[in-house]
Amino acid sequence: MSKRAECWVYGGIIGSTIHDCEKNLLYKAASLCEENGFKLCFFLCTKNISEELYDVLKQCGVKKVYFIKSGHARVSYNTQLEIIIPIIQKEQPEIILFPCTDSGRFISAYLSVKLQTGLTADCIQLEYDSGEGQLLQTRRVNMSEMVQVVTPNRRPQLATVLFQKVYESLLIDPSERLEIVEKEAPLEESSTPYSDLQVQCISKKYSFINKDIVLVGGAGLGSKSNFLQLYKLADLLSAGVGATRRAVDLGFAEKEQLIGMSGKIISSQICIEFGVSGASQHLIGIESCQNLYVVNKDEDAPICSCAQGIIVNDVNEVIQTLIHELSTI
Ligand SMILES: Cc1cc2nc3c(=O)[nH]c(=O)nc-3n(C[C@H](O)[C@H](O)[C@H](O)COP(=O)(O)OP(=O)(O)OC[C@H]3O[C@@H](n4cnc5c(N)ncnc54)[C@H](O)[C@@H]3O)c2cc1C
Repeated sequence: MSKRAECWVYGGIIGSTIHDCEKNLLYKAASLCEENGFKLCFFLCTKNISEELYDVLKQCGVKKVYFIKSGHARVSYNTQLEIIIPIIQKEQPEIILFPCTDSGRFISAYLSVKLQTGLTADCIQLEYDSGEGQLLQTRRVNMSEMVQVVTPNRRPQLATVLFQKVYESLLIDPSERLEIVEKEAPLEESSTPYSDLQVQCISKKYSFINKDIVLVGGAGLGSKSNFLQLYKLADLLSAGVGATRRAVDLGFAEKEQLIGMSGKIISSQICIEFGVSGASQHLIGIESCQNLYVVNKDEDAPICSCAQGIIVNDVNEVIQTLIHELSTI
C-alpha cells in the first residue's frame, strides 16, 4: 500500500501550547485530511513537547509532528528553513498550510521560492478536488470579487490561511499515539544565504496576531502623538494596533502595522477604527473581523456603512474618554 500523502500545518515557534490561530488552522486542515485521506502533520520548534501541547495537538487531529528541538529561546527563520527544506524534499507533502502570522508569511514566501512552487496568500476557504488532486484555494481580490487558485503542476501546494474561528469537535482515538520526528536545532547560527534576510516586526506587544481586539488608527488622528494614545488604550484592552496607509505615510505608525490590500488582513472578533475613512483598499483588510466599530466625525464616511456601531465625534476626544473610563474600572 502506498504511503499516505501528508498535509502539513506550519506552527513555527511554539511555547507550552498553541494559539487559536494555529488551532483553527489545524481544525480546518483536519477536516480536509479526513475527507481526502491525508495524514495531518504539524511542524514546530520548541524546547520540548509538553503534555498539554501533546494533548492539544491530538485533539486537533494531528497524526505526526515534525519537531525542531531547541535549547535556545528562539530558532531563527534561517535555521527553520535549513531544517525544513530537506524534510520537505524527502517527505514530499502534498499541501503545506501556514497561519497568517509574521512567521507563517515569511517562511511560506521563502519556501515557495526555494521549492519553486506556488503560494496563495490570505486564503479564506480551502477545498480539495480529489479527482484532479488539487487544492482549491479561495482568496479575495477586492471587496466584491473572489478568485479560486490552483497550482496544477507544482508540489507542495502552499497557502497562508486567514484566521477564522472554527469550533469543531473531532473524533479522536485516545489510544492513538502521535508520531514524532525530532531534529536538534544546531547551536551555531546559520551561515547560508538566508542570513541576509532582515525581518522587521512591530513590537510584539501591539502585534494584532492572535488578538481578539484590534484598534486601527487613521489619518483622522491628526498627529503621531495622538496615534500614540491608541497604544495606551490598547494596553487597557489587551488589543493590537494597526494603521491605514495614510497613517503610515504620515509617519504615525510603522509599515508593518498597515492593514489592507497592501498590508495585512485581520480577522479579530472586534475591530475599532479611529479616524479612518474606509477606502476599499483598507476594507479588504478588515472584512473578516466579526464586529466593526467606528469613531469618525463624519457619519457619511464609507466605513460607517460597514459598522455595527458608530460614534460620531472627535476621535481624540473619544480616545481620551475611553482611556479615562477604562483606567478607573
Ligand atoms: C494601490 C493602492 C493600495 C492601497 N492599499 C492600502 C492598504 O493596504 N491599506 C490602507 O489603509 N490604504 C490603502 N490604500 C490607500 C487608501 O486608498 C486610502 O487612501 C487610505 O486608506 C486612507 O487612509 P485614512 O482612512 O487613514 O485617511 P483618510 O481617507 O484621509 O480619512 C480620514 C478620516 O478621518 C476622519 N477624521 C478626520 N479628522 C477627524 C477627527 N478629528 N475626528 C474623527 N474623525 C476624523 C475623516 O472624516 C475621514 O473619514 C491604497 C491605495 C492604493 C491606490
